[in-house]
Amino acid sequence: MSLTASAGTVHVRAPGKINVYLGVGGRHDDGYHALATVFQAVSLYEDVVARHADDFSITVSGVDDVGSVPLDDRNLAMRAAKLLAAATEYDGGVALEIRKNVPVAGGMGGGSADAAAALVACDALWGTGLSPARLHDLAARLGADVPFALHGGTAVGTGRGDQLNPALARGRLDWVLVTSEEGLSTPVVYDRLDRLREQRGALADDPPLSLDVPIPVLQALRSGDAAQLSMTLLNDLQEAAVYERPDLDAAIRQGVDAGALAGIVSGSGPTVALLCTGPEGAQDVQSVLRDAGLDPLHVHGPVPGARIIS
Ligand code: ATP
Repeated sequence: MSLTASAGTVHVRAPGKINVYLGVGGRHDDGYHALATVFQAVSLYEDVVARHADDFSITVSGVDDVGSVPLDDRNLAMRAAKLLAAATEYDGGVALEIRKNVPVAGGMGGGSADAAAALVACDALWGTGLSPARLHDLAARLGADVPFALHGGTAVGTGRGDQLNPALARGRLDWVLVTSEEGLSTPVVYDRLDRLREQRGALADDPPLSLDVPIPVLQALRSGDAAQLSMTLLNDLQEAAVYERPDLDAAIRQGVDAGALAGIVSGSGPTVALLCTGPEGAQDVQSVLRDAGLDPLHVHGPVPGARIIS
């Protein structure tokens, strides 16, 4: 299916993200873990076209198998459209057409990007004209990663990951992503982390309920030096993701052997993000991994958040 934006429609593009750093603290009473993370929006995009309709509907297509993506109120883009309608007392509907490039359940926030794109697209289509601050509030109600997909760039997220502050980041970073055909469930990975921590039990301190991104990560981002940043990449979910999917460890090793500076599982996985020396370095890594039978993508960041294309 091709995207068919035309008069009376709004086409918005929103990026997927990598967690350059992801610290996971203890679990709060509401079930959410305390997080300190650095998001970077990368050049792998979701396209959402919104057109006027009496009720609410969604179609989804994409490069990968999108059969597992719900088309009802469980879809984050559908929830975004209905939340905006309720908040603005808009009494019509919308037909949303989503073209996914971000892997489903890939740890890259594709669903959150769809929600951010749907908010921006419906706001423009319906002429509801919400301020950026109100759009941000609605985004935060939809999910912890949605505000970031709205803003893009490079940002520090604390709390549940939803308290955002822009990070000073110089220059461009080149990443090679190794995607997987099969996704990983985010709750399964967090549960696995809790169980691994319980097994360590008495030997370890309780994970903190409030945490910060370490200064060296922020300094490396500010310097724009990929080699410096590569030494600070960390994801507290990685051990749990690798427990569920041992092949991810091998993908990281293959990437580093192919010339990447370092590799990390993105978010809850299973996408692996390999930080490279620059555009040429990334092309080299990509071609070695492709020859090894993997499915590598060369992307760069930071890129802007959800934007109207037409
Ligand atoms: P998370 O945001 O939980 O870290 P993720 O980035 O790993 O997730 P997503 O592709 O955003 O992965 O989706 C996770 C799950 O959310 C999917 O398995 C699907 O059931 C559901 N979902 C809801 N809306 C969407 C959407 N628009 N696109 C993809 N998945 C969606």
